[in-house]
Amino acid sequence: MGIQVFGVAVSRGVAIGRAVLVASSRVDVAHYFIGRAEVPQEVARLRNARDEVARELETLQRDLPEDAPSELSALLDVHLMVLHDDALAEATKSWIAERHYNAEWALSAQLEVLARQFDEMEDPYLRERKADVEQVVERLLRTLARSRVGAQPSPAGPGLATEDPLVLVASDIAPADMLQFKRSVFTGFITDVGGRTSHTAIVARSMDIPAVVGAREASRLIRQDDWVIIDGDAGVAVVNPSPIVLEEYRFRQRQSELERARLDRLRHTPAVTLDGEAVELLANIELPDDAPAALAAGAVGVGLFRSEFLFMNRNGALPGEDEQFEAYRSAVQAMQGLPVTIRTVDIGADKPLDVMSAQELRHEHLLNPALGLRAIRWSLSEPAMFLEQLRAILRASAYGKVRILIPMLAHASEITACLAAIARARAQLDEAGSAYGPVELGAMIEVPAAAIGIDLFLRQFDFVSLGTNDLIQYTLAIDRADEAVAHLFDPWHPAVLHLVAQTIRRAREAGRGVSVCGEMAGDVAFTELLLAMGLRSFSMHPSQVPSVKQRLLRCDTRRLAQQLERVLSSGEPAAEAARRLRGAGY
Ligand code: PEP
Ligand code: MG
Repeated sequence: MGIQVFGVAVSRGVAIGRAVLVASSRVDVAHYFIGRAEVPQEVARLRNARDEVARELETLQRDLPEDAPSELSALLDVHLMVLHDDALAEATKSWIAERHYNAEWALSAQLEVLARQFDEMEDPYLRERKADVEQVVERLLRTLARSRVGAQPSPAGPGLATEDPLVLVASDIAPADMLQFKRSVFTGFITDVGGRTSHTAIVARSMDIPAVVGAREASRLIRQDDWVIIDGDAGVAVVNPSPIVLEEYRFRQRQSELERARLDRLRHTPAVTLDGEAVELLANIELPDDAPAALAAGAVGVGLFRSEFLFMNRNGALPGEDEQFEAYRSAVQAMQGLPVTIRTVDIGADKPLDVMSAQELRHEHLLNPALGLRAIRWSLSEPAMFLEQLRAILRASAYGKVRILIPMLAHASEITACLAAIARARAQLDEAGSAYGPVELGAMIEVPAAAIGIDLFLRQFDFVSLGTNDLIQYTLAIDRADEAVAHLFDPWHPAVLHLVAQTIRRAREAGRGVSVCGEMAGDVAFTELLLAMGLRSFSMHPSQVPSVKQRLLRCDTRRLAQQLERVLSSGEPAAEAARRLRGAGY
């Protein structure tokens, strides 16, 4: 049947394609497709980098002190040989010419191929030569990184030399890289690391393609060009499947396409339950370009615009006020009068500013980045940046209905500082004569302290939005991006459900808006439960809107509410919900 690789299911459906391996590297490697016309230029970049590294190595050799050990000179000889060897030079060129990878990606792809060949060698001396190849490639990558400024990724992926569908295989993909792939040719992807709500998984889900994360061995077991089936429902990949297995999966693929087509017909159906309760289905977006998909799915607004994605892939430079304003305005205009909830930047943890700092954050400097300078903590530590963002959002509110959402609040002092910053941003715009409209302010409830102390938030904000991904992470002390504890990341944990239910209840009692924008909102397994808790506003990936709508159309919220206490007080809420809520829903 082929090798099976198990991981964590991220998004629905089946993808079948040839593997494209994205190698992980100690150097910050940009992965993007180049256009056909740019191939000669990219090959020239590679050649120039090679010449430069050759000059560096020759200079090093020439300047070796007299008394330097002879091994050093021999080592530099080896590195020069590796540099000019066809197994590296010519093969890397082919990745550029045939697959249209950028030079850095091509190099790291070829390094992966060579590393495997070395690993399989019997002779220990030869096996150790792998380190030389890695060092040479690292030098080349650093040189290329210096020449990257201005290079334009072609995210859609140009006419590749292969007609086959492609699936992406990687050890880890930073959310920033994932963004580059968002409008690309991949029909599915699989990574070694990550959990269900890691940001890489979230971006993948927003791409609406089958995906599996946390599949530990995937990038070691799967080779470039292998045929791979990615089963995003079961969290399994099958490598080089037998014809029978392939046929079975092709059948399932057709079935799920039919199901989608059926669901699409619900687009214009109002989201109203059997007992007449109107439910607001909103979209989570990462970039203004996602707004059309939100509208197409039938979302009635944006419940979460993760603005931090505007801050990524910029080599650490931040977008200025005008650039942000243009982005927010374009999302607002694209939503054609529907509300757009813009969350202030949530940088940190598994969403660093660039790939390099991802590795630094995770492995070197900070032991617990998820507990560190993240989200509003970072914004308040960079007051000029925060004010710029607030002014940009406020200015966009002159063009439509905008709401501001603040991530990761926990302390009263943070609330005070935020409100003061917003007042200051307004005053600055008044002074400059810039227009802005009325803007509602909201707080994300995603730290247990905020859920427990919810009344404080309800007094200060117009609405609250439950970030269940982080609420689960922080309540259960489970790193959401760590596949080693992915099995313990449990949205059904009674403590989590208690915090969610209490937040919804108190917000309703206080007459404040409340919504859920974590992954729970788009997961149909929770639709009945959240309705039973009194939730009437759900924000999710656009692709999830139709199935959640289909589910709620069959629900009677009065009957669901009657069952809530039994589910919450049960030791096994998942089983109890399946028994009581599914039955009461119809
Ligand atoms: C959440 O934490 O649930 C959330 C919606 O925010 P993010 O996933 O971006 O942390
Ligand atoms: Mg969050």
